[in-house]
Amino acid sequence: MSMTGSVPGTDNRGIRELGAEEKVGWDQVQQGVVLPSFEGDAADIAHQKAEERHYADFNSYTATVASWRVLKPVYNRDICIDCQNCWVWCPDTSIISRDKQMLGIDYDHCKGCGVCVEVCPTNPKSLLMFNEAEENEEALSEWPQKEKKAK
Ligand code: SF4
Ligand code: SF4
Repeated sequence: MSMTGSVPGTDNRGIRELGAEEKVGWDQVQQGVVLPSFEGDAADIAHQKAEERHYADFNSYTATVASWRVLKPVYNRDICIDCQNCWVWCPDTSIISRDKQMLGIDYDHCKGCGVCVEVCPTNPKSLLMFNEAEENEEALSEWPQKEKKAK
């Protein structure tokens, strides 16, 4: 059996962002129901950029979890070497990269886990965690200097 339309399998997290107050929770979705991620024909979906895809209402791409974060990663383009480590390791595919160039953070889906900061190899790091409330410009102005290697 398949079900289409706006029936997100979700708990209350992000429900306000979805406008989904009347919809069912994840534990209320009927067993065997298929919730397609995209509207219409998705045969060529792998070749479309994320912003060109027609996401179904209940696809997590259309929901934001930004309110879960206490800390956020801030990206410093001036230091980044486009190694793509952060893109590979982010557990939420929240690093935006095109043609092997790091572009920034998808703050709608980033959960602030800090993995990207841990794996960034530059000195100083090109990604650092800051308080969620801090402006990115302010964070960039406080960036640490290169650390000298101990002899
Ligand atoms: S903090 Fe975590 S979820 Fe956010 S971009 Fe970094 S690795 Fe991804
Ligand atoms: S891990 Fe660091 S240096 Fe590598 S692409 Fe990401 S931000 Fe840039």
